[in-house]
Amino acid sequence: MVVGSGIRRRRRSSLGADGVVSKCREAVSPGAGSTPGRVKEIVCAAYLPDLAEELEHTFLKFVHPAGGLAVGLVPVGDGQVVWFVQFDTERYARPSGDAVLPFLEATLQDFPEVVRRVVAGTAGPTPHVWDTVDMEPVPQIVRGNVALAGDASHVFLPFTSQGANSALVDAQQLAEYILGSTNPAGVTAALARYQQERQPVKHRYLSAGRALARGFVEPVADNAFAIPLVL
Ligand SMILES: Cc1cc2nc3c(=O)[nH]c(=O)nc-3n(C[C@H](O)[C@H](O)[C@H](O)COP(=O)(O)OP(=O)(O)OC[C@H]3O[C@@H](n4cnc5c(N)ncnc54)[C@H](O)[C@@H]3O)c2cc1C
Repeated sequence: MVVGSGIRRRRRSSLGADGVVSKCREAVSPGAGSTPGRVKEIVCAAYLPDLAEELEHTFLKFVHPAGGLAVGLVPVGDGQVVWFVQFDTERYARPSGDAVLPFLEATLQDFPEVVRRVVAGTAGPTPHVWDTVDMEPVPQIVRGNVALAGDASHVFLPFTSQGANSALVDAQQLAEYILGSTNPAGVTAALARYQQERQPVKHRYLSAGRALARGFVEPVADNAFAIPLVL
């Protein structure tokens, strides 16, 4: 990225936005610790035009009352329904390869009819098991003239549902601060401001996502259902 159109001696700054397994993160904040996430997610797609029409714009989610298992259905257009299963690996062994679809059929057999419809409508190769990552907060997201954004800067547990939004806000704020800089010192200040403002938000998302993950593996208490939204 070339910064500041009015700068005589142009200074380049770089954006590291290379996702979960970020080489840029390793350079900016070496040795960020992480452990495998206890709850994993299987994401599938099914072509089910009738169901997609019934759902219209509704995101349906079913949570098992015993905890540790949930299914979400999202119509995404053109008759496609993307659906996902969140499961606690301490109760359900992680399936792989050809065992994934049979795992879904067996595990979800007592779920509502609409869930069994998407399972039946899912072709063998589509289910993908995401091995989620629980990453410690990185101490810095800026080093020299390099700034990290999105998952490169912090990986949240999928429960957080803020990874994509947060990546967009990173990009928008970084662009705004840098484009407002008119000299190299201004660029340095812009990157410092970016780190100062985005780090606390990311730490908040991270701990809120972990709290949701802890609650997910517990039985659903009567009258205690809360929409799992991290703000
Ligand atoms: C199962 C699951 C469910 C999720 N659910 C939600 C949700 O409900 N809501 C939400 O907001 N977020 C959710 N997320 C998180 C969201 O997907 C990510 O936070 C988001 O995609 C991060 O965007 P990004 O651009 O930072 O990284 P990515 O989307 O990973 O993009 C990084 C890109 O960099 C590329 N790249 C990597 N290394 C290099 C290299 N050396 N050279 C060139 N390119 C490279 C990669 O190929 C990739 O295309 C979920 C994630 C998972 C795994």
